[in-house]
Amino acid sequence: MSLIPHVIVIGAGSTGSATAHDLALRGLRVTVLERGEIASGTTGRNHCLLHSGGRYCVNDKEGAIECIRENLILRRIMPHALELNDGLFVAVSDEDLAFKETFLAGCAECHIPAREIPVRQALEIEPFVNPDIRAAVQVPDGVFEPWRFCASFLATAIKNGAAVRNFTEVKDFIFQGHTVTGVTVLDHRTGETETLGADMVVNATGAWAGIIAAMAEVDVPVVPTAGVMVTIGERFNNMVINRMHLPHDGDIVVPIRNTSIIGTTSWRVTSPDAIEIPREQIDSMRQAGELLMPILKAGRQRGIMAVARPLISKANADARAFSRTFEAYNHRSQGAAGLVTISGGKTTTARGMAEKVSDIVCGELGIDAPCKTRTTPLVSYREFYN
Ligand SMILES: Cc1cc2nc3c(=O)[nH]c(=O)nc-3n(C[C@H](O)[C@H](O)[C@H](O)COP(=O)(O)OP(=O)(O)OC[C@H]3O[C@@H](n4cnc5c(N)ncnc54)[C@H](O)[C@@H]3O)c2cc1C
Repeated sequence: MSLIPHVIVIGAGSTGSATAHDLALRGLRVTVLERGEIASGTTGRNHCLLHSGGRYCVNDKEGAIECIRENLILRRIMPHALELNDGLFVAVSDEDLAFKETFLAGCAECHIPAREIPVRQALEIEPFVNPDIRAAVQVPDGVFEPWRFCASFLATAIKNGAAVRNFTEVKDFIFQGHTVTGVTVLDHRTGETETLGADMVVNATGAWAGIIAAMAEVDVPVVPTAGVMVTIGERFNNMVINRMHLPHDGDIVVPIRNTSIIGTTSWRVTSPDAIEIPREQIDSMRQAGELLMPILKAGRQRGIMAVARPLISKANADARAFSRTFEAYNHRSQGAAGLVTISGGKTTTARGMAEKVSDIVCGELGIDAPCKTRTTPLVSYREFYN
């Protein structure tokens, strides 16, 4: 029997994958349990924006600072999973133009490198942007490929001894007194149920975190908040094109591979598994996207998708007003020692989320092993299935 503590990580989205890597790098035995394919939750269907933080630098400074810090780290550790194409924030109205100084001040306050470029230069770089823009500011946005993002973290974790079991759904927790000592799982490939023991369990199930926590009779204040994205089957921009105003519906066009994705909206849902897409949201988003890039009107609509964000409810506010920051919860104080939850945040901040929850896991296990993920390059996603 191994003396190295065993940690189960539930969920193989960006958060669980980064957590598996962090814990394995600190020398722990790690098993990742994912009910579907990796990145089959919110991560696999998001907007793919490596945030510079520009979108949040005025109304959510905490989230913006996390984004730029992690953006710069990811550029170093996973260059193979990123397209470093930068972003442009453009003013398309007088109100947007009046917002420019506030925006630039927000970027400066959050340490986001931002520089205004002449409109003529912006239109030379991005000829399909609305020709009537009044101002343009360049920021270090980028694009990630979600599956490659997760697979890079997981491949590196596997290299360091972790095991990844996909199509394995956690159905319940095993308790000894007030301590979680393992989980019951259903293997969807074999149809068999089994129990797995663990010294600690990390709930990294994003918008499902509240459902998983309820299995252990503890609470996490995660509000599943859906967003719709419309994919146009042609790529018209090289940089990410954002509207220069507070985040709103349909105010960003992200180029990924040979498509352009317009997004996104924000409304609360009761279940992340059953999201109905309101027709009017698609129409209003297309209109808002076409204001940024009129050529999108001529583009073929290739797909519509909706997924739920795991937003942390800190106030009884409108979902757009929730911070995009993240939280870790040690459930020892709620009568479930051995169980921790990490949720909220963004794919861009997954590494930082992993660091936070892994610090708690190591503290609970009495292990003195510092986080090394800021400087450790990840192996290529290509090694995941080797
Ligand atoms: C519309 C939209 C656009 C977004 N765009 C961006 C963006 O451009 N850039 C960015 O950085 N962030 C973006 N985000 C935020 C980002 O997608 C999420 O914060 C992030 O993907 C959450 O990752 P996660 O690993 O915590 O959750 P998930 O990716 O959802 O992973 C949780 C996993 O847990 C699994 N799971 C659930 N229940 C069980 C169970 N019982 N047993 C085993 N496994 C289970 C699920 O299958 C899932 O794979 C966007 C979010 C939305 C909604």
